[in-house]
Amino acid sequence: MDFQYDVVVVGAGGGGAILGLDLGRKGIKTLVLEQAPGPPTGLRGEILQPNGQQVFDNLGLLEKLPSQAVKPVRLFHFHQIGGARMCTIDYDMLPPPYNRALVTLPNIVHHTVLEQLQAYTPGGLWYGTSFTQLIKRGGQVVGVEAETQGRSMTISAKLVVGADGPFSKVRDALGIPTSVHHYSESYLLSILDCPDGLEEAQYFLGRKEIFGIFPAAGGKVYLFYMIGSGSMPVVQASGLQALRIKWTAIYPELKRTFQNLVEWEQTANMPTGRARAKSWVRDGAVLIGDAAHGMNPHASQGRMQAMVDAVTLAELIPSCLEREDFSASALRPYEEKRRPHVEMLQRLADVEVFFWNTGNPILATIRNRVFSTLDRNRRLRYQVLSATAGLRETPPFGFVDRFQAIGVLPDPRADDLPQDTLPVRTRSIP
Ligand SMILES: Cc1cc2nc3c(=O)[nH]c(=O)nc-3n(C[C@H](O)[C@H](O)[C@H](O)COP(=O)(O)OP(=O)(O)OC[C@H]3O[C@@H](n4cnc5c(N)ncnc54)[C@H](O)[C@@H]3O)c2cc1C
Repeated sequence: MDFQYDVVVVGAGGGGAILGLDLGRKGIKTLVLEQAPGPPTGLRGEILQPNGQQVFDNLGLLEKLPSQAVKPVRLFHFHQIGGARMCTIDYDMLPPPYNRALVTLPNIVHHTVLEQLQAYTPGGLWYGTSFTQLIKRGGQVVGVEAETQGRSMTISAKLVVGADGPFSKVRDALGIPTSVHHYSESYLLSILDCPDGLEEAQYFLGRKEIFGIFPAAGGKVYLFYMIGSGSMPVVQASGLQALRIKWTAIYPELKRTFQNLVEWEQTANMPTGRARAKSWVRDGAVLIGDAAHGMNPHASQGRMQAMVDAVTLAELIPSCLEREDFSASALRPYEEKRRPHVEMLQRLADVEVFFWNTGNPILATIRNRVFSTLDRNRRLRYQVLSATAGLRETPPFGFVDRFQAIGVLPDPRADDLPQDTLPVRTRSIP
């Protein structure tokens, strides 16, 4: 073998970079391989939800985020397109200190992690290096083959981590059956200067139309607009003026801001998908993040869950090293701990896709009724918020809650706040 490490992580994305950093802090000899030539530069907005803030805090990263690039947002208003405000979600309901959503400028969160990863493990992150295949001995994964600038190399490792996103090659090489679903909607994203000033997030829902407007740091605003998957050429053919007119019709207050959209380079198109790997562990290998469980962005949790996977796995690895045991059964406690929460969020996101993205007037009416109920019902509102914030591992609505949410059953406990209002700590694996 050309190189030897305890752990090789394939992919320095949302999950892999955090895992590399956490293992580096624990003094575990780790190498992170990233196919991209350097840190990402593309346009994308980021929300650090309370559970992500907690992970960041525990790793000493929260204080490293440049304050001029981070906007704490407390209020999220949901409106009917062309109609009234339906509901306001107030992050202040959550227990401090994680009682705001942090909206960051593009890539700020990720660059902060990558800088710290390189500080803790100098030379432990190789850009421009692609995983090509697994090396196995008697069924056990014992390393990887990788390629950089046309040169192949072999790297031995006690554990190989597939953190290479929803179309994971590591997962394919492990032969893990996976269902991958492409949603029929994608999002057109943009970050624009916002001379009008904006402190609160606005979310507009119509018939097959969603428009989100989040305040960002530095007098900017982060916009996302739902379009049909693969329909970007059609949107572009209609022209920027058509888009500006549509957005202004939805939210006239930001007319001047929308006029700052003057070229397509100010936009990006993000397709959406879901991945469900049947198993996340094999002898000598494990999957984290989107490679194991990509989810629809309605959950607002994809990156957060990749990070929680990383810190959960990082807690288990020292005992595996001590016992020299990286078999699937030694790694399984990680999957057993993480899978229920992730699957709950995947299902929740799909329910949201069904009702929020709908063009069906009956489903849209039910959706709007639920939002209106949430506005009046503190208990249900808290349950939905704590799920989105990543602080709740069970579904936000129980059986009876669903009938109360659509307004066919009264809720005598509508003003109660549940007792479980303490932040979920990243619990240890027993
Ligand atoms: C429109 C949209 C909005 C979103 N909004 C949010 C949000 O608000 N909040 C949130 O939490 N999540 C959000 N997400 C989801 C989030 O981006 C992902 O869930 C998260 O990035 C997953 O992290 P990951 O590390 O698993 O994968 P990724 O971040 O995709 O990282 C995978 C890495 O592996 C590398 N790689 C791939 N193949 C190889 C190879 N062969 N060799 C070496 N390296 C390789 C890639 O270059 C990449 O850097 C959104 C997603 C979309 C599409």
